[in-house]
Amino acid sequence: MGLIELASGNSVWRGMDYYNAKKTKSVEKTGPYTYDGTVRGEQLYHVHIDKEHPRRSTCTCPFAEGRRVICKHMIALYFTAEPKAAEDFLKQVEEWEKEEEEEEQRHYEELREYVYSLSKAELQQLYLEALIEEEERRNRYW
Ligand SMILES: [Zn+2]
Repeated sequence: MGLIELASGNSVWRGMDYYNAKKTKSVEKTGPYTYDGTVRGEQLYHVHIDKEHPRRSTCTCPFAEGRRVICKHMIALYFTAEPKAAEDFLKQVEEWEKEEEEEEQRHYEELREYVYSLSKAELQQLYLEALIEEEERRNRYW
C-alpha cells in the first residue's frame, strides 16, 4: 500500500490543503523512493517519506513523531514532489463519487419500481405498519 492508502482520509485532505497552500518549503529526492524536505505547520517540520516503505516515513510534528503513522505533512511533501499523485488522487475521488451517485440512482429506481408494483391493499397495509413502527420508535426515545 502507498502513502495515501495508509493515511487517514483526514490526513490526505489536510495534506492536499497544505499542498495547495504551498506549505512545502523544500523538497529533495534522496533516493529512488525517498524524499526529504520541510513543511510549514505550527512550526517548520522535517519530513522524510519513503514510497516503497511508507511506514518508514517520518515527520517531526507531534502527531507523527515516534509513531508509524502518515501525517498531513508527509502527504503535502509527497504531492509537492509528485504533483501527478495529487491529480490522480482527485481523479480517483471523482470516480468514486460518480460510482456512488450511480449506485444511489439505481437503488432509487429499484425502490420506485417496487412501490409502483404494489396493489392498493398492499400499500395500505405497508403504510399502516410504517406508521405504527414510527410511533413505537418515538415512544421508545421520548
Ligand atoms: Zn507531520
